[in-house]
Amino acid sequence: MTKPEDIIRADVLSMTTYAVADATGFVKLDAMENPFPLPAPLAAQLGEVLAAVALNRYPEPRPAALIEKLKAVMGVPAGADVLLGNGSDELISMIAVACAKPGAKLLAPVPGFVMYQMSAKFAHLEFVGVPHRADLTLDTDAMVAAIAEHKPAIVYLAYPNNPTGTLYPDADIERVIEQAKGSLVVIDEAYQPFAQKSWIGRVLQYENVVVMRTVSKLGLAGIRLGYLVGAPAWLTEFDKVRPPYNVNVLTQAAAEFMLEHVDVLEGQAAELRAERAKLAAALAALSGASVFPSAANFLLVRVPDSDAAFNALLNAKVLVKNVGKMHPLLTNCLRLTVGAPNENAQMLAALEQALK
Ligand SMILES: *Cc1c(COP(=O)(O)O)cnc(C)c1O
Repeated sequence: MTKPEDIIRADVLSMTTYAVADATGFVKLDAMENPFPLPAPLAAQLGEVLAAVALNRYPEPRPAALIEKLKAVMGVPAGADVLLGNGSDELISMIAVACAKPGAKLLAPVPGFVMYQMSAKFAHLEFVGVPHRADLTLDTDAMVAAIAEHKPAIVYLAYPNNPTGTLYPDADIERVIEQAKGSLVVIDEAYQPFAQKSWIGRVLQYENVVVMRTVSKLGLAGIRLGYLVGAPAWLTEFDKVRPPYNVNVLTQAAAEFMLEHVDVLEGQAAELRAERAKLAAALAALSGASVFPSAANFLLVRVPDSDAAFNALLNAKVLVKNVGKMHPLLTNCLRLTVGAPNENAQMLAALEQALK
């Protein structure tokens, strides 16, 4: 009889499943979620909207009303198109699949967002990681050299980067885009609500640039909606590898409703930006901790022993992300999502105790 190991790819057999920690009973500061619930009246209104959705019908493959709202609210320039994904994770995978000619490469700064590398692996692209400098800023010279050497099909720049929080200077990005004339440069703006800087307005200025966004970090991680902004010439091709009904009816309805009330989410993001500043100052004041600058809703902090600090936080019922083993440049680093004020206080107290 045939066994899975006779059929499944060897590289898949040797992989492990993407690990998501069980956070039940913990202060959850590991996944860059917005900690604030919707105001009750708004949640009730949303409930009515969702109750009216026809669950028996397939979703619209290219929901025009939702796309128009996204364009208006997010400042998509005239002439640019929008392609929707089941989270930006799905867009990342679609881009890899569409570009996976034999021998094609995908290049990104490392440490970076793991899904870029995963998408390359799944689609059989070669992944080229270009290390950041020791202070986790972009090594633009190394990027330019690697692009010249490898001629990648795809270059990812997360703006700001995860898990470092770094917001690359525009001049560095311009240099990379110029060098990468033979590549598609994807600027991933998952953390735009916290960076308040964007390339969306400039997306048509270069023929080789698209901008990726998501509503996840803004407070809608559960609905799974990402979107790609760029010239129709690019998006038309990516649309061909999109599963036809990839964004479900409940997500479409919830997103349309929430875009009409985006001020609520933007207010929450502003509160988190203020919390980020307070938390960064408090962490910097802890002896033994050093904090990297962050334009996202998380802070990367280096401690003397990240395993010990992570476990001490777990014992205090606080879940963060221990990235200390993820890349040599992240040795002894923890990634702390900025939460609600009481959550941040609890995390800080536990970390202070752990560092004593
Ligand atoms: C969180 C994150 C995303 C993920 O997005 P989803 O839309 O939730 O799939 C994309 N890019 C980066 C850099 C992220 O940190």
